[in-house]
Amino acid sequence: MHSDVVIIGAGHNGLVCAAYLLKAGYSVVLLEKRSVPGGGATTEELLPDEAPGFTFNRCAIDHEFIHLGPVVEELELGKYGLEYLYCDPVVFCPNPSGKYFLAHQSIEKTCAEIAQFSPRDAQKYAEFIDFWQRLLKGIIPVFNAPPKSVVDILGNYDLHKIKDLFSVLGGPDQILDLIRTMLTSAEDSLNEYFDSEFLKAPLARLASEMGAQPSQKNLAIGAIMMAMRHHPGMARPKGGTGALTKALVNLVQSLGGQVLTDQSVEKILIDDGRAVGVRVSGGQEYRASKGVISNIDAKRVFLQFMDTAEVDDADQNLRERLERRIVNNNETILKIDCALSEAPRFVNHNHQDDYLIGSVLIADSVKQVELAHSEPSIGRIPDADPSFYAVVPTMLDPTMAPDGKHTLWIEFFAPYQIENAQDGLKGTGWTDDLKHKVADRVIDKLAEYAPNLKQSIIARHVESPAELGERLGAYKGNYYHIDMTLEQMVFFRPLPEIANYKTPIDGLYLTGAGTHPGGSISGMPGRNCARVFINSQQSVVQKIKDVRDSVKSTVDAMFKGK
Ligand SMILES: Cc1cc2nc3c(=O)[nH]c(=O)nc-3n(C[C@H](O)[C@H](O)[C@H](O)COP(=O)(O)OP(=O)(O)OC[C@H]3O[C@@H](n4cnc5c(N)ncnc54)[C@H](O)[C@@H]3O)c2cc1C
Repeated sequence: MHSDVVIIGAGHNGLVCAAYLLKAGYSVVLLEKRSVPGGGATTEELLPDEAPGFTFNRCAIDHEFIHLGPVVEELELGKYGLEYLYCDPVVFCPNPSGKYFLAHQSIEKTCAEIAQFSPRDAQKYAEFIDFWQRLLKGIIPVFNAPPKSVVDILGNYDLHKIKDLFSVLGGPDQILDLIRTMLTSAEDSLNEYFDSEFLKAPLARLASEMGAQPSQKNLAIGAIMMAMRHHPGMARPKGGTGALTKALVNLVQSLGGQVLTDQSVEKILIDDGRAVGVRVSGGQEYRASKGVISNIDAKRVFLQFMDTAEVDDADQNLRERLERRIVNNNETILKIDCALSEAPRFVNHNHQDDYLIGSVLIADSVKQVELAHSEPSIGRIPDADPSFYAVVPTMLDPTMAPDGKHTLWIEFFAPYQIENAQDGLKGTGWTDDLKHKVADRVIDKLAEYAPNLKQSIIARHVESPAELGERLGAYKGNYYHIDMTLEQMVFFRPLPEIANYKTPIDGLYLTGAGTHPGGSISGMPGRNCARVFINSQQSVVQKIKDVRDSVKSTVDAMFKGK
């Protein structure tokens, strides 16, 4: 089979990339190893026998990053069946003290909730969110461009965004102070603003979504996970995250693209130093005349899908640098999905069904969150007093379960490789027995807050970190493909020499969570990669014209005060 471009993996980034390439006139084939496309963006009926009609988001549920970029609008995904439902409230976190953190999309309403328990922290909360929102707005243009393409980045700035950036930069001392803030940890930053544990703990819980403990230096930026819930807001596709994938597949197919499932790529075909196609398990080859794009991480591409000599011929150091320099802290997720006869009731925390629309966080203290993320990095399971992130998706979208019934989504951070273990799946230590024991502890903890939970469980599905890694095909189960720490972001992601989606192998490109700006549902790596690919096919004259247009539109925007 032959096309202009072959894409390895039909995760949402592979599909976004395909859509832009098809719109630019290239023919594209996507090869997906699973029987369903979407990768970390699927909705599936996991318990068809015990709980028919209940559908579950197997990975991602809350979409914030995708609303920081133009993918949904540019690709007109609404026309292909995508409808976003916005959450409000956005976060609920009960505390053992009887207090609780309830965040609405409105900052003012959130401050009023906090003020019930701490008027000082309510005031500081507004300052905290204002700072991170201005910073976020100032750096959004960087997310939406290839990290080494200065012209593209500049082209994304208009007067408002420049103002936002300067408002956090200011004079020399303010710039130094901002750098210092970026070098601190989420915990340091929270201590600087707040007194109350009932507030600091959930904010630490969300900051740790970056995949590291709150005390991890250089990750104060995790605060944007809360800031984004206020603006642009937190939304979910109606019908589940899989509805995003479905809309992308509809679009790709309507443009003539092919999404072929049950096609596990095993080898990238190199001819005279150039990527010319791939071979899948079973032996079938797919040829690509213009390029091969990988939606999976660089480590697997260069260390597993290519011969040593082929990589060494292109870059003598690349294999060793991929092997040893890329950081992967051993943390991934044990996923629990339950079909429920009724929603959990948080009887000691002023229960209202609406509180469960957004993210339900179990974070009793910053210390508990710290252990939840530091223990996995040394191979221990933090289940003595579990902290985790839960959602009752059917509160916002009742279509995901039979009438009046509910679902429960829990992500519990856990090690991929358990210390000293050699048994279990892939020698990780994860057995069926162990995953169910850990799930029991997590459910027990949630039931301390919602005593009706256990009797309401109709059926449950538990996936261990090792199983999740096998399903996604992700290296050590890392759903961000590589860690999201500062030294692996922007033009360092995954390594400086392959950070602009191009690689030293002619015709071989990288996209997906392991490239800038990283993991989560954003579509940005897919869009940015498509831009680099299309640009690389253009003549020099066209490239100069594009630079001129980009500079002109930035200057026009600035002077018109747009
Ligand atoms: C439990 C969980 C909860 C999450 N919750 C959220 C959330 O609420 N919000 C959020 O924004 N993000 C969340 N994430 C992260 C998010 O799901 C991922 O970062 C994102 O889906 C990555 O998308 P991607 O397209 O870059 O890669 P992937 O989704 O990893 O896509 C890669 C694709 O390649 C395929 N593939 C792998 N190997 C091969 C091969 N050899 N041949 C062919 N195909 C192959 C895979 O099957 C997959 O379809 C969550 C992740 C997990 C695990």
